[in-house]
Amino acid sequence: MNLNASRTVSIVVPVFNEEESLPLLHEQVARTLAQMDGCTHELIYVDDGSSDGSLEVCRELYARDPEHVRVISFRRNFGQTAAMAAGFDAARGEVIIPMDADLQNDPNDIPRLLEKIKEGYDVVSGWRADRQDTFLSRRLPSVLANRLISAITGVHLHDYGCTLKAYHRDVAAHMNFYGELHRFLPVLASWAGARVAEIKVNHRARQFGVSKYGIGRTLRVLLDLITIKFLLSYSTKPMQVFGKWGLYALCVGFFAGLMTLGEKLLINQDVTDNAWLFVCMFFSLGGLQLICMGLLGEINVRTYYESQKKPIYTVRERLGGSPSP
Ligand code: UDP
Ligand code: MG
Repeated sequence: MNLNASRTVSIVVPVFNEEESLPLLHEQVARTLAQMDGCTHELIYVDDGSSDGSLEVCRELYARDPEHVRVISFRRNFGQTAAMAAGFDAARGEVIIPMDADLQNDPNDIPRLLEKIKEGYDVVSGWRADRQDTFLSRRLPSVLANRLISAITGVHLHDYGCTLKAYHRDVAAHMNFYGELHRFLPVLASWAGARVAEIKVNHRARQFGVSKYGIGRTLRVLLDLITIKFLLSYSTKPMQVFGKWGLYALCVGFFAGLMTLGEKLLINQDVTDNAWLFVCMFFSLGGLQLICMGLLGEINVRTYYESQKKPIYTVRERLGGSPSP
């Protein structure tokens, strides 16, 4: 999957109250991109309902360089993931590179990301090895979250949260953005069969404004991790997960039923006062419910894939036969 000689790069920048940083960021990114040979570019600023002058700054940048700048402005604040999704949807480049608007990512890393894409990787993930954020509220939760995500998803990266990454457009087309899922994009891409690489990138302290997140983000990331794990493993076979636990529960219920019956028949114990009876009822009903949920899940999966004619696989290349769809 090599890049064409005249490759186009789309830089996607989610913007939420970053009026002071934007002019500097634009200057730095435009300078870096202009120095790169054989590469055309576009800069997509997505204003995520800013309440400061960010949108005016974006408009000015567009007025100065309409050939390279594009601006999308949301009606209200929809969140960073939504802003990135809008940028990815609008991007026309062969490679899409999201980056923060607050100057914490270094535009000088863009050529290195592109080099790695040229080597044949579909996703190149930035790793803020020397992260310039507070330790207790940002770096420590991030290290723990990254380890957990790595262990649970099986996609081994050091820094999922770094916005600066490069995506080949072929894999970006397969990624859906929901919730706070933007940090799991390499996982989704890898799930779609992408080749994922990681490089160390520079990270700078925030010069202007304040971070838009607090410690509460860790919780949201954890919830998304559960969603991602479920989607990764079972989104095409929900009966396999619900049905399995349903069967286990039914077995426990059956065993408890036998115990109740045994105690009644052998030692004539009063079943209304028997703990096994409750275990039997609870697990039998729970098991049946889980199996029913699995069946409902199967119906949902079919509706999801068949109504949108979504394949349950992704193809890298076809040789011979009919052309790829
Ligand atoms: N951002 C956004 N919408 C939001 C919150 C943040 O578009 O609701 C943007 C923000 O302008 C910045 C990027 O997302 O460009 C990362 O935000 P921030 O720097 O606050 O996160 P941190 O670097 O502290 O993790
Ligand atoms: Mg930041």
